[in-house]
Amino acid sequence: MAEFSLQLPDEVVEVRDWVHGFAEEVIRPVAHEYDEKEETPWPVIEEAAKIGLYSADSFGTWFLEPSGLMMVVVNEELFWGDAGIGLSLMGTGLGVAAIAGNGTPEQVMTWVPECFGTPGDLKLAAFCVTEPGAGSDVSNLRTKAVKDGDDWVLNGQKVFATNGGIADVHIVVASVDPELKSRGQASFVIPPGTPGLAAGKKEKKHGIRASHTGEVLLDDCRVPSECLLGGEEKLEERLGRAREGKKTGVQAAMSTFEATRPIVASQALGIARAAYEFALDYAKEREAFGKKIIENQSIAFNLADMKMEIDAARLLVWRAAWMAKHGGKFEAAEGSMSKLKAGEVAVWVTERAIQILGGYGYIRDFPVERWHRDSKIYTIFEGTSEIQRLVIARAISGIHIT
Ligand SMILES: Cc1cc2nc3c(=O)[nH]c(=O)nc-3n(C[C@H](O)[C@H](O)[C@H](O)COP(=O)(O)OP(=O)(O)OC[C@H]3O[C@@H](n4cnc5c(N)ncnc54)[C@H](O)[C@@H]3O)c2cc1C
Repeated sequence: MAEFSLQLPDEVVEVRDWVHGFAEEVIRPVAHEYDEKEETPWPVIEEAAKIGLYSADSFGTWFLEPSGLMMVVVNEELFWGDAGIGLSLMGTGLGVAAIAGNGTPEQVMTWVPECFGTPGDLKLAAFCVTEPGAGSDVSNLRTKAVKDGDDWVLNGQKVFATNGGIADVHIVVASVDPELKSRGQASFVIPPGTPGLAAGKKEKKHGIRASHTGEVLLDDCRVPSECLLGGEEKLEERLGRAREGKKTGVQAAMSTFEATRPIVASQALGIARAAYEFALDYAKEREAFGKKIIENQSIAFNLADMKMEIDAARLLVWRAAWMAKHGGKFEAAEGSMSKLKAGEVAVWVTERAIQILGGYGYIRDFPVERWHRDSKIYTIFEGTSEIQRLVIARAISGIHIT
C-alpha cells in the first residue's frame, strides 16, 4: 500500500501543465465556434495528434501511471478548455477502454492503435451500447449477434453513440443469448468499412455540441470471429456458467465501471472549474450600486460554496481513481459516488455562475451559458444520477434495491 499523500507526482504535474496549455491555447479559442457549428473539431484533433496528445501511446502511458491520477487530471484540464471538444478527443477513449477491458492482449495490440490513427490520417472509435429501448436498463438489449460459420452476424440499432457512425472502429455490445439478459451479452469490434454498418441520424443537442452523437445501424453486419472481444472460448465458458446459474464476470464488469467513472467525473469537474474561475474574475470586476459585486456577501458566499463543492467533488474523484489503481474493492461504490457528485456539482456551479454574471451569463457572447448546457450531460450519460444512487445504495446495503 502506497504511503498516503495528496501531492500529485511530478510526472502528473508536468503532463497537467502541458495539457492545460493545449486547452488554453488551442481548445478555448475555438470552443464557441464549434459549439455554434455543432461539428467535430477535426483541426483540434489533428493538432492534438501532432503533439502526441491524441495517441495510443499517450493514453497507454496515462493509464499505466502509478498513482492512478494521471487520467483524471488530464481530463479535468481538457474539459476546462471545452467539454464538446474534450469529448471529441476522449470519446475514442470509451472504445479503447472497452477493448482494453474485454479484449485479449492480441486484440488490444491490433485495435487500440487503429482507434487513433496518426497525424494526417486520424481515426476515431465509438462505444455503442445504448438502444432506443435500452439506456439505463442495459440488460434489455435487442441487438443480436448470431454465429454463422466462422463469422458473427450482427443486427440491431444503436442510438446516442459518441462518434457513432463517423468512427473508424465501432465497439458494439450485442446479445448472444437473450434469455440470459446482461449475462448473455458480448462486445464486438466492427472494423472500418465493414458492410452492414451504417451511420443513422446525427443528434442535435442541448450541450457538448462539438461532440458527434449519432445512431449506428447494423444490418447483417458480418465480422470474423477474431472480432469477438475476449475470444470464443472465454465467451462459451461465461455462457456455460450463466446457464448453470453460477456467478459470471458481472462483478468484474461492475468493478470496471467503478474504475472508469472517476474519469467521466473529472470531465464534469473541468467544466465546473471553468465556470467558477470565470465567475470569480467577473465578480471582482463588475460594479453595481457603486461597489464590486463580490463585496456583497451573497455573491462572495456563493463563490465560496462553489469552490468548496468543486474541491469536495475532486477529492471523491481522486479517491476513486487512486482506488482503481491500488486494488480498491469499491465496497461503497466510490467510483459511482465520484461521478454522481461531480455531475451534480457541475450543473449547480454553472447555474450559479450564470446568476453571478446576470444577463451576461445568459447570452452566448459569454461562455458561461455554454458551460451550463455542457454540464447537464454529466447527470445523464455513463449512468444517470439515479442509477449512480442505485449502485451506491445497493453497495452499502447489500440489498437489491430497485
Ligand atoms: C450526448 C450523449 C452521449 C452519449 N454517448 C453514449 C455512448 O458513447 N455510448 C452509449 O452506449 N451510450 C451513450 N449515451 C447514452 C446514455 O448513456 C443514455 O442516454 C443514458 O444511459 C440514459 O439512458 P436513457 O436515455 O435510455 O434513459 P432511461 O434509461 O430511459 O432513463 C429515463 C429516466 O428514468 C430514470 N431511471 C431509469 N431507471 C431507473 C431506476 N431503476 N430507478 C430510478 N430512476 C430510473 C433515469 O435516471 C432517467 O432519469 C449518450 C447519451 C447522450 C445524450
